[in-house]
Amino acid sequence: MKDCLFCKIVNGEMNTDIIYEDEAIMAFQDIEPQAPVHILIIPKKHISTLLDLEKEDEALIGHIYSVAVQLARDNGIAEDGFRIVSNCNEKGGQSVYHIHFHLLGGRNMQWPPG
Ligand code: 5GP
Ligand code: ZN
Repeated sequence: MKDCLFCKIVNGEMNTDIIYEDEAIMAFQDIEPQAPVHILIIPKKHISTLLDLEKEDEALIGHIYSVAVQLARDNGIAEDGFRIVSNCNEKGGQSVYHIHFHLLGGRNMQWPPG
């Protein structure tokens, strides 16, 4: 989608540190990391918010979670523990309107989240 930051990353229009890519998804370093490991995993297909997910996207979200867990292993945070977060809409803390899943680890996470 035009003017979507993460679609620009998918289309190679931004200088991004890509960690993983396949036909359906992409993972890259967050530009403003909130933990020693902070990776964003996104579908290549533009979906604005979690509210826009459709039945046909179920496998895509499952795939995102499997790759996120593999990235947790690859980055050495699996055993100690990690968090996967997806923010939805303004009060949920979403700032980029192309769904994404934050993989965070390498430090103690707080609960409840802020
Ligand atoms: P949200 O606030 O929507 O849950 O998460 C958006 C995330 O995208 C933030 O953690 C922010 O640091 C990250 N971000 C914003 N702009 C860019 C960018 O241009 N490149 C990368 N790699 N990450 C970005
Ligand atoms: Zn997009």
